[in-house]
Amino acid sequence: MTKWAYSFRQGEAEGAASMRELLGGKGAGLAEMARLGLPVPPGFTLTTEVCSYFYAHDKTLPPDLGEQLDSALAKVGAVAGHGFDDADWPLLVSVRSGGRASMPGMMDTVLNLGLNDRTVGALARKCGDERFAFDCYRRFIEMYSSVVLGVEHHEFEEALDAFKERRGLTLDAHLDASDWQAVVALYKDIVAHHKGADFPQDPRAQLMGAIKAVFRSWMNPRALVYRELHNIPADWGTAVNVQAMVFGNMDDSSATGVAFSRNPSTGAREFYGEFLINAQGEDVVAGMRTPQPISEAARIAGKSEAISLEKAMPAVYAQFKSYAEKLEAHYRDMQDMEFTVERGKLWMLQTRGGKRTAPAALKIAVDMANEGIITREDAIARIDPASLDQLLHPTLDPEAKRAILTSGLPASPGAAYGEIVFDTQEAVALANEGRKVILVRVETSPEDIAGMHAAEGILTARGGMTSHAAVVARGMGKPCVTSAVGLRVDYEDQSLSVMGRRFAKGEMITLDGSAGHVIAGAVKMQRPELTGEFAVLMGWADAARRLKVRANAETPADARAARNFGAEGIGLARTEHMFFEGERIVAVREMILADNTEGRRAALAKLLPMQRDDFKELFEIMAGLPVTIRLLDPPLHEFLPHSDAEIASVASAMGADPAKLRKRAQELSEFNPMLGFRGVRLAVAFPEIVDMQARAIFEAAIAAAMETGKAAQIEIMVPLVFACAELDFVKARIEETARAVEEETGIRPGYHLGTMIELPRAALRAGDIARTAEFLSFGTNDLTQTALGISRDDASAFLGTYRSKGILPADPFVTIDQEGVGELVAIGCWRAREARQDIGLGVCGEHGGDPASIAFFDKAGVDYVSCSPFRVPIARLAAAQAALGRYASEGTA
Ligand code: PEP
Ligand code: MG
Repeated sequence: MTKWAYSFRQGEAEGAASMRELLGGKGAGLAEMARLGLPVPPGFTLTTEVCSYFYAHDKTLPPDLGEQLDSALAKVGAVAGHGFDDADWPLLVSVRSGGRASMPGMMDTVLNLGLNDRTVGALARKCGDERFAFDCYRRFIEMYSSVVLGVEHHEFEEALDAFKERRGLTLDAHLDASDWQAVVALYKDIVAHHKGADFPQDPRAQLMGAIKAVFRSWMNPRALVYRELHNIPADWGTAVNVQAMVFGNMDDSSATGVAFSRNPSTGAREFYGEFLINAQGEDVVAGMRTPQPISEAARIAGKSEAISLEKAMPAVYAQFKSYAEKLEAHYRDMQDMEFTVERGKLWMLQTRGGKRTAPAALKIAVDMANEGIITREDAIARIDPASLDQLLHPTLDPEAKRAILTSGLPASPGAAYGEIVFDTQEAVALANEGRKVILVRVETSPEDIAGMHAAEGILTARGGMTSHAAVVARGMGKPCVTSAVGLRVDYEDQSLSVMGRRFAKGEMITLDGSAGHVIAGAVKMQRPELTGEFAVLMGWADAARRLKVRANAETPADARAARNFGAEGIGLARTEHMFFEGERIVAVREMILADNTEGRRAALAKLLPMQRDDFKELFEIMAGLPVTIRLLDPPLHEFLPHSDAEIASVASAMGADPAKLRKRAQELSEFNPMLGFRGVRLAVAFPEIVDMQARAIFEAAIAAAMETGKAAQIEIMVPLVFACAELDFVKARIEETARAVEEETGIRPGYHLGTMIELPRAALRAGDIARTAEFLSFGTNDLTQTALGISRDDASAFLGTYRSKGILPADPFVTIDQEGVGELVAIGCWRAREARQDIGLGVCGEHGGDPASIAFFDKAGVDYVSCSPFRVPIARLAAAQAALGRYASEGTA
C-alpha cells in the first residue's frame, strides 16, 4: 500500500528534512521542525506522489486516499483537542501547496477551511468576537469559491462594494458583525447563482475540494511560466499541507510575521524580520499596514516608531530567537521562517533556506565556515559564481523606481546612466568635460573604441553576445545592452526612438547590463564594496581549483584590472584591438589597403614602435607571468574604412588618391568576412606583418626584462589555422626574426609558439598541429561559429526563437554546446596530448568566463581558461566548484 499522507505534530513526525522530493520543501520543513520539538500546529502532508497520481488518472485522487486522510485528520483532532464536528470549538485547517523548489505565490492556498453556518457561531463564541468570526467566514467563502469552485473573485468584490455603498460605509474596518453576516449571505447567493448549488457545508467535502484545487493549481498558467523560467520540471509535482489553523488576528496578544536568522541583505549575523500585531500572514505581505521590526536593534537602526516584537512580547521574542538559532545550526544555513502568535503562544509555520543578495551570500558563507558550521568546501559551493558580477560592477539601487523602455541582450553586466550620445568624438568630448554619457549605436566598430572607453555604458540596436560591442564592453567592464528590441537609432536626427517614445541627444537614460534593460532617466546606483569576505572566499577557491585562470587583455588598464582580480597571466592579447584608437587605426588601414609589399612595409614601420611600447607595458604589468600575444586577426569588415572622411584620412597618410583607395577598399570587401581574409591567412599572404609583430614582441620583452629584472614569458599565438603547414610557415618567419634580434642584441629571446583552435578541422587535426605547437588555445567563439555555422554577429535574429522552442537549451555563444563544440574541444585535447604530452591547453573564447562551460573544460582536461578581466573572479570560483564537483544551486536572490 502506498503511503500518501505523512503526519506531524510537535515532537514527532513521519516525514523528515531528507524527504523533500516526496513532501515538498514546506512539508519537509514542517516535519523537521516537529521532530526538533518546535511548536508546529499539528497537520499532515499529502505527497507529491498524490499529485503524480492525480495527473496520471484524469485528475482524480487515489481511491485509498480517503482512508489515510481520515486517519491523519483524526490525529490532528486528537492533538488539537477538537475535530471538524466539535460543537464548542470546531477544528479549522489551512490547505497549502509546497513543491520541491519554492514557487512563491504561484499556486493556490485555502485558509479557515471547516467554517460553515454552524461552526461560524462556535468560533464566535470561542474567541468571544462575532465580528472576527463572520469576517473569517466571508474570507473563507471568497477564497474557497474562487480557488475551488471557480467563481470569479471580482463577483465578491463588487458585491461587497455595492453593500458598503448601500450602507454608506467606505472602509472594511467600518463593517460590524451584523454587516459581515449580511455579506456572508450575499456571498452564498452568488455561489448558488453561479454553481446552481449551495456553498458546501460539510468540512470534509470542503477539504477534498481544496486538495484537488491545490493539485490543479500546479498546472495553472502562472505556475507553468514560473517553472519554465526557473527550470523546474513539471513532473516534480506539488505536495499539499493540511494543518490546524492558528490565528494571528485573534486579538492584540496575537501576531504574525516572517524572520531570517541572519540579515538577507547584508549577511550580518543578526536576527532580522517583520511582524504585525493582530494580523494574518497575508496582511504582512499585502502592504496595507507597515510591518514592524522584530528586534529593538533593527527598530532603532530603522528609526521606527512602531513597537518591536522584542518589546511587545519579550518572552515570545526570546523563544523565537532561540528557535531561529536552533534551526540555523540544524540546517547549517540561514533560515527564512514564518510564525504566528495566537493569544501569546508562538507557533512555527515554515522554515526554509533564505534567499539572499550576493554580498550577503558571501558574508554568510565565509562567516559560517569561520564559525565552524560548514566547511570551506561548503562555503565555496554555496556561492553562485555568476552572482559575483553584482559585487564587481555598480548595480541599480533595488529601492529606486524605474521605467523600463525596452530590453535587449544583457551583453555586459553592471549598470550606468548618462546623456545619450551617438558618436565617438562627442562621447570623448563630453566625458572630458566630466559628463556621464551612454554611447548609442546601431552597432559598434573599432571606430567606436574611444567613445566606448569614454562612455559609462553602451547600447546597440543590433549585435549578439559576442558582437564587437559586447566583447569590447565586457573587456572594459562597462555595461552594455545589445539588440535592444524596437530600438531605432536615427544618426541624422541625433535621436533614438523606442516603444513610441523619442529621446534626443543629451537626454538621460540608464542601462542595466546585467538584466538587459534600457530605462528612461537616471536611476540611482549602488557600488557594493569588495569586502574582506570576498578576498577570503577567493583564497579558499584558489586553494581548491586545478584550472588556472588568465585574462583576455591588451590594454594596460585591462591588464592591471586583470591582475587585481587575480589573473595568472594573459591568455589572449588581441593585437588588432591595440590599434583601435586615434592615429593607429589609420596606420592599420594603410597596411591593409597597401597594394604592394613596399607600401605595407611603410605602414608596418609606423606600427612597430607602437606595438613594441604596448607589449613592453604588458610584460611589465604581468611581471614574469605568461603573456599570450596573438598575431593580427582583423576581420576585414571591422577594419576597412567606410565613410568619405575615413577614406580621406587614410589616403592622406599614404599619400594616395582617395578614389583609388576607395576602389581598393571595395575590392577587399568580402561577403563572409568572418570566413574571409583574416587570421593566419593574412600572415601567409603578407609575412612582413609577422616579421614586424615578432620583432616588436622580442624587443619589448628584452626591454621589459631589463627594467623589471624579470624575464618575460612570451607566448606567440597564431589565429585561425586549420593545418599544421600554416603554422610551420609562420614559425619559420618568427624564428628568422628571433635570430636577427639575437644577432643585433646578443640576447636570444625565449618564447613558446602555439596556435588557436577555432576551426573544426583544426580540432580534428590537433595531433598533427601539436607537432609544431607548444600550446593550443581553443577560440570557442569562432569554433562555435564555424561548428554550428551560425554567424556570431547575426545569431540574435533567430537564437531567441530557437531557445523558446526548446531546440537549443542555451545561447551557444554564452554556454558551450557540450555535445558538438565541446566534443571538438575534447577531441582536440586528447589528440594534442597524444602527440605532445606536455602541451599547454587553454580556452580563450567568451566561454572561458562562463561557469557551466568552465565545469566542462575542467573535465575535458584543459590547463587554463582565459576570460575578460571582470570575469576572472567568477572563473576562479567556478573552477574551484568544478574541481570539487559541487555547484551552487540556490540560495542567492
Ligand atoms: C575566439 O574565436 O574564440 C577568440 C577568442 O577570438 P576572437 O573572439 O578574437 O575571434
Ligand atoms: Mg577567433
